[in-house]
Amino acid sequence: MKNLMSANIESLEEYFLSIKEKKFKALQVFEWLYIHKERNIDNFSNLKKEIREQLKKDFNLDFIKIKKIEKGLEVKKYLFELLDGNYIEAVLMEHDYGNSVCVSSEVGCNMGCRFCESGRLKKVRNLETYEMVEQIILIENDIGQKVQSVVVMGIGEPFDNYDNVINFIKIINHPKGLAIGARHITVSTCGLVDKIKEFSNLPLQVNLAISLHAPNDEIRNKIMPINKVYNISKVISAIKEYITKTNRRVTIEYVMLNMVNDSLENAKELASLLKGLNVYVNLIPYNETNNLEFKRSKRIKEFKDILLNMGINTTVRREFGSGISAACGQLRSKEV
Ligand code: SAH
Repeated sequence: MKNLMSANIESLEEYFLSIKEKKFKALQVFEWLYIHKERNIDNFSNLKKEIREQLKKDFNLDFIKIKKIEKGLEVKKYLFELLDGNYIEAVLMEHDYGNSVCVSSEVGCNMGCRFCESGRLKKVRNLETYEMVEQIILIENDIGQKVQSVVVMGIGEPFDNYDNVINFIKIINHPKGLAIGARHITVSTCGLVDKIKEFSNLPLQVNLAISLHAPNDEIRNKIMPINKVYNISKVISAIKEYITKTNRRVTIEYVMLNMVNDSLENAKELASLLKGLNVYVNLIPYNETNNLEFKRSKRIKEFKDILLNMGINTTVRREFGSGISAACGQLRSKEV
C-alpha cells in the first residue's frame, strides 16, 4: 500500500476522480498533511467519513522515526530510522537567511566516489518519496519553524532515484505542500548525463549542481568511477544543453583534494574547460574521513584566485558540521 505522502497533487487528483469524487479534495488532503501537519486521517474533518475510510483503505501514513539528533554550531544532524530498519541522515543548517536542509535520497550509494564516506555501504535501496518528504517534516516539527531551502546532497545519488526525487520536489514545492520555492531547491548529481537531459525538460526552476571534481578525465577516472560511463566531455555537453534549454546557471562542485586535483595547472585547466559557460564554481574544502588516502588541499585560496583571474565565478563552500561528522561526504547509512 502506498504512503499518502508519496502522492503528488496530480496523482491525488486522479485518485479522487477514480473514486468518483471531486478533484479539489486533493488540495484539502495536502492542506491537512503539509499545512496542519495532521498525521491521523480520521482528523481530516472537512472530508466525509466515507472518504476518510476509503483513504485509509488505499493509503497508509506511516512515519519514519528520528533516532538521534546531534547538535553542532548552527547545525544539527538527524539520524532517521526507516520502517524496514535502515538508517539515513539529514542535516539542518541554520543560516541567517533561513533554515536549509540537506536530505538523503538513497540508503547507501552505488557511485563509489573514492573520497566519499556515503558510498562505502553500497546502495541498499532507493528512498521512497515519503521518506524524503518526512525528513523535512520531522525537522520542521523538531525546530518548530519552516525550512526555507533544500539541497538534495545527502546520502545517495538523486539521479539514480530520479522519479522519486522529482516527485518529492513537486510535493515540497507545491504551495499547499511544504511551499519551498523551486529556486530554493538544489539537486546535486555526480553527472548522470541521461538524467541531466531529462531534468532540463522539467518545468520547474530547480537548481542543478554537478559534482565535477576534476578538470580532466585522467584525474576524474581515478576518483569517480562514473566517469568511465559519462566522461567530462559528455557531462559538459549535457550542462551546455541544460543551460540552453533552461537559461539557468549551473553550480560546479569541486572538492579540493590535496595533491590530487588542486595544482595550479588544474585550476587553469578547469577555467578553460568552463570558459564561457553560465556556471559558477563552488570549491568544497575536503572533509577528512576514516579514509586516509585523501587529505584536504592547502591551496584552496590560490586555486580560487586563478579561477577568478581567468573570469570564472568562484566561491568556497562555507563549512558546517564537521565537528559532528555532518559535513559533505561524511554522512553514513549506519547507526554507529
Ligand atoms: N551524489 C550526489 C549528491 C551528493 S552531494 C553528488 O555526487 O553530487 C555531496 C557533495 O559532497 C558531492 O559533491 C560530493 O562529491 C561531495 N563530497 C563527498 N565526500 C566529501 C568529503 N569528504 N568532503 C567534502 N565533500 C565531499
